[in-house]
Amino acid sequence: MITVKNLHKTFHTLGGDLDVLKGIDQNIEKGEKVVIVGPSGSGKSTFLRCLNLLEQPTEGEIWFEGEQTNAPDCNTNLLRQKMGMVFQHFNLFPHLTVLQNITLAPVTLKLKTPQEAEQAAVQLLERVGLADKAEAYPVQLSGGQKQRIAIVRALAMNPDVLLFDEPTSALDPEMVGEVLQVMKELAADGMTMVVVTHEMGFAREVATRVLFMDDGQVLEEAEPQEFFEHPKNPRLQDFLSKVL
Ligand code: ADP
Ligand code: MG
Repeated sequence: MITVKNLHKTFHTLGGDLDVLKGIDQNIEKGEKVVIVGPSGSGKSTFLRCLNLLEQPTEGEIWFEGEQTNAPDCNTNLLRQKMGMVFQHFNLFPHLTVLQNITLAPVTLKLKTPQEAEQAAVQLLERVGLADKAEAYPVQLSGGQKQRIAIVRALAMNPDVLLFDEPTSALDPEMVGEVLQVMKELAADGMTMVVVTHEMGFAREVATRVLFMDDGQVLEEAEPQEFFEHPKNPRLQDFLSKVL
């Protein structure tokens, strides 16, 4: 579904050039749940952002469903429709109700009529246990509720893959579980997922493959059991000794 070849990303800053991604190669199959872990600043968010072109790769190729996304003729709107993203800070529109947040994109892009979009939104809200919040504004919701709404908003586009960038890192501890639960259900439903997280329990339980990113590279990748029980790279061993 996604092929990444020799992906590089360099940021040009006042302090000089910053090589944040240093040649990443990846194949992500339909139905896979790829969990990415690694220290802060290692390039995890930049990698996800390159996948859906929130950042333009400096070098290399990204292919999604048979099309090269970092080619000049790529339809970015269609790409982002098929590749949903859930952020650490929810990014809901504060001036819109929950229902409006969810239906805005599918209606604006004319994927659904307002009635169809609303019907779909209500069904999705029921699925995450938030049907009673349809008319609420984001400020009236807890962090866990906001993140579940953000997931629903992404799902409302019928994406083929969902990217999650530390979806539980901004939550109070007691709300982490409800968001992970929704993600586990999506995984069980067969959704293709790429998840950056510090939740090692989630990685163990849900991942088909875990990647360790450090300093702009994927230093190790394996199935969870192998990854956590027999880490090979010393930097991964060190990382795991700190987070487990
Ligand atoms: P992670 O998500 O693993 O914490 P990031 O991908 O956010 O890492 O960041 C990797 C590095 O790239 C960091 O040093 C960060 O400061 C830098 N960086 C990220 N985005 C930008 C940007 N837009 N401009 C300049 N530097 C950036
Ligand atoms: Mg990040």
